[in-house]
Amino acid sequence: MRRNRKVKILATLGPASQDEAMIRKLHEAGADLFRINMSHASHELMREVVKRIRNVEAACGRPIGILADLQGPKLRVGKFANTTVELAAGQTFTLDNNEALGDNTRVYLPHPEILEAVKPGDRLLIDDGKLHLRAEKCDGKSIVCTVIAGTKISDRKGVSLPDTILASGVLTDKDRADLDAVLATNEIDWVALSFIQRPQDLTEVRKIAGHRVGLMSKIEKPQAIDCIDEIIELSDALMVARGDLGVEMPLEAVPGIQKQLIRACRRAGKPVVVATQMLESMITSPVPTRAEVSDVATAVFEGADAVMLSAESASGQYPVEAVSTMASIARTIEREPHYPGIIYAQRPQPEATGADAISLAARQIAETLKLKAIVCYTASGTTGMRASRERPEVPILALSPVVQTARRLSVVWGLHCVVAEEPTDLDDMVNRACKIVVSEEFGEPGDRVIISAGVPLGTPGATNMLRIAYISADGQSGV
Ligand code: PGA
Ligand code: MN
Repeated sequence: MRRNRKVKILATLGPASQDEAMIRKLHEAGADLFRINMSHASHELMREVVKRIRNVEAACGRPIGILADLQGPKLRVGKFANTTVELAAGQTFTLDNNEALGDNTRVYLPHPEILEAVKPGDRLLIDDGKLHLRAEKCDGKSIVCTVIAGTKISDRKGVSLPDTILASGVLTDKDRADLDAVLATNEIDWVALSFIQRPQDLTEVRKIAGHRVGLMSKIEKPQAIDCIDEIIELSDALMVARGDLGVEMPLEAVPGIQKQLIRACRRAGKPVVVATQMLESMITSPVPTRAEVSDVATAVFEGADAVMLSAESASGQYPVEAVSTMASIARTIEREPHYPGIIYAQRPQPEATGADAISLAARQIAETLKLKAIVCYTASGTTGMRASRERPEVPILALSPVVQTARRLSVVWGLHCVVAEEPTDLDDMVNRACKIVVSEEFGEPGDRVIISAGVPLGTPGATNMLRIAYISADGQSGV
């Protein structure tokens, strides 16, 4: 199954899409990896969905990545005596530690750590930003606020704190239990961490998870932007989580931040996913709006590794159409005459390593000689990601003896991942590479490819070899 596009599609599974037949349809329509949202899935359901994805993977023969998304510290107010109360701009409204039902002067905030962390002047955004409060007086037990904008508040609405750094770690008790369950499956490739604020948040999760899963930091708080370089350094991938980011920051700041994050990740050679509302209207309509098509196109032009579907594929009426629409936008944009110029304008310089020097050379040789593919052997995935960082025009086949590596790389721009046995020697490596190029439909007898590897084979991080090879007349070997 050859995709004919570079950007990857990450589809969220949910009530509209988590049975096996539907997962297969989404994969065939173009979903390269799937997101399981731990805010909604029980451990039992998560394990069941993982099993279904792996069945589809076995049936279709392509490695599929699985991302488990941890809910993170999502804060909510308590309840009101009459469910909803009306508020007016300029009035005083208090959040406190009193469990009694709320009224139009106060409500319970069941998060003592927040009552202590908020400082006068901080903004509190309730209900996805529909109500805006400013903290005036804080004594650790209550936050007296002025209503700046908005007219009502109701039971259990979410609270965002764009100005406040929370002392607590990024993992809630629920997240810890979810993470344990995710790790115990041994089948999940990526864990997404919501509301990352500081580099220490990553260190904390890494202590538990090690490198058994890739850690994808969801950038949805302004505090994270302030230390983005350290966060990228400690993460294995990033998500531009525009949903919550657009609540915590002015909406018009989000497109610029999207560009900043994509560029920083391309520089670092770490995968970056653009998420939320990409084809929002397709939740209820079989066709997207012009603006949505343009939004997906922008992410493709910027060279993002993957674009994500949320409710469109999880709970919408047209999950398959949403995936195939995304796929056809990607294919079309990547063939636009302006695409190469736009994407290559942001190509980062190679770092002074063997892997980068080889990746750059492989791209230049492949483009100069119009080769059919770059084939790279990658055990840990590093060589594959560095090859992708070059954003070459020709396809990249990433061959790995490690199935977990092939699955994890499913999020990476331009990589066609194949699980392949470890070659026994150099000749075997060239022969295998050529055979796979043919069987995966990237080339035919007589075509030429370029192969990169680390010799001796199996040495991690030792990319040191490039070889141009002709595919033999029977397509079974290379010369
Ligand atoms: P969510 O994250 O869908 O888990 O909230 C993505 C976002 O906030 O954009
Ligand atoms: Mn979010």
